[in-house]
Amino acid sequence: MACPAVAAANPEYVCERCGGWHSGACPEAALRQLGDLVARTVREADARIPASPCAPRTVAEMRVRLIAASGEQACGSCGGAGGRVEDTSDGGTIRQTWRTCGTCGGSGVS
Ligand SMILES: [Zn+2]
Ligand SMILES: [Zn+2]
Repeated sequence: MACPAVAAANPEYVCERCGGWHSGACPEAALRQLGDLVARTVREADARIPASPCAPRTVAEMRVRLIAASGEQACGSCGGAGGRVEDTSDGGTIRQTWRTCGTCGGSGVS
């Protein structure tokens, strides 16, 4: 049995949103807010990608998909990426350098 003091502090009410009974916030509203938050976070992350230092990796992945969609033959050396990211980190500096594929000259197409 619920403690009478707690029940008085959190009286249940009929929710207009979902028609259920709640003693707190409507869980359906919270779920919708979470969905909005996730959608907004994904949009913001997408908008940030072009300026990110990891962009070559993403561009390479995009190129691989474009080549596959166009029906062209992807470069056997780089797999269509046009090159690869080489880790040139030293000391406390994390640095990634894009190395263009010598076989296809960076086009990703053989
Ligand atoms: Zn509700
Ligand atoms: Zn290549």
